[in-house]
Amino acid sequence: MPVVFVGHGSPMLAIEDSTYRRGWTALASALPPPVAVLCISAHWTTCGTFVTGAEHPDTLHDFTGFPRELYQIAYPASGSSWLASRVRALLGHDEVQLDPERGFDHGAWSVLSAMFARADVPVVQLSLDLSRPADHHRTLARRLAPLRDEGVLVVGSGNVVHNLAQHKRGDAEPRDWGIRFDARIRSFIEQGDHDAVVHYPALGLDAVMSVPTPEHFLPLVYVLGLTRPTDPVRVFNAGLRSAVSMTSYRFGPLAAGSGARHA
Ligand code: ZN
Repeated sequence: MPVVFVGHGSPMLAIEDSTYRRGWTALASALPPPVAVLCISAHWTTCGTFVTGAEHPDTLHDFTGFPRELYQIAYPASGSSWLASRVRALLGHDEVQLDPERGFDHGAWSVLSAMFARADVPVVQLSLDLSRPADHHRTLARRLAPLRDEGVLVVGSGNVVHNLAQHKRGDAEPRDWGIRFDARIRSFIEQGDHDAVVHYPALGLDAVMSVPTPEHFLPLVYVLGLTRPTDPVRVFNAGLRSAVSMTSYRFGPLAAGSGARHA
């Protein structure tokens, strides 16, 4: 099973037609059908690491100031006690706790509602422990690698560049520092230099501006930890809107017969 990092951008992409949303739908159509999804979203940050344990997780509307229509969206995918248990077994029961109440945040459902519109694939989310450094997250991710052979699709949902203080809605003009940072990260990934990605603060001021807080970047670190050296890399939804990068990556081969659907 491939592993994917998706730039999720604005919650509005959950209800508006866009090239990005179409890219998410096309992504799913070029994947083998997964038995379940493990989503690592920027919007579930914790102290300690947790997995969702609810049988039918709620849809969280974890944003303010958007149209009412967005608050009426429900994504009724079921949870998966099997996958939650499997993640805990792989990462260690001391390392990962079960959260029986937590619902799906918009980093998960805005993307998954385009990928699996029928909500017929069970979903479990893994939280981001912000008390731990990027290297720790990559170490955890490596332990999850067997999931790829068990039919589980791991989806990292964040943004390589995410600076809301510098972001202007309706102004699509990309910031120069964001363009440079996004390009450097893409170059590292295409060269297979994942260490350079994980150690992104070495990129200096462009990194400070592009990743002012780590939560939107760390889902990419998880995805890189799940890759194999033989995985082909495909970039899609590339580029920035204002101070948010939508650049997304899929690692691993296309499903047989699916063909290339988008760039
Ligand atoms: Zn976000």
